[in-house]
Amino acid sequence: MENLREKKISKRTGEIPEPYRKGYKKAVKGGSKRAAIKAFCLECSMWQEDEITGCKAVTCPLYSVRPFVKRRSLAELARTLFRMPEI
Ligand code: SF4
Repeated sequence: MENLREKKISKRTGEIPEPYRKGYKKAVKGGSKRAAIKAFCLECSMWQEDEITGCKAVTCPLYSVRPFVKRRSLAELARTLFRMPEI
C-alpha cells in the first residue's frame, strides 16, 4: 500500500509546476499542516497564487487560513465580503 502511495506521489509530483514541487513533497511527507494547506490551496487553484489570494469560496474550511493572503481584521473581511461602507 505504501509503495503504491509513493508511486502515485511520484507521478503527481511530476505533474506539478517545478516551483511548487518541494512544498508538495513536504506536504505529503506529513508533519506540516501549513505545507499541507498551502499545497491543497495551490492544487485547488491550478497553481495560481493570485487565485488563492482572490478566492471567493468563503465557505471553504481553508478560506481563513489560505496562503498568500495578508491577514485582515474581521471588520475588513466583513466589509470586503458584504461591501459594507467604512464605519
Ligand atoms: S481556500 Fe480557496 S483556494 Fe484554498 S482550498 Fe478553499 S476554495 Fe481552494
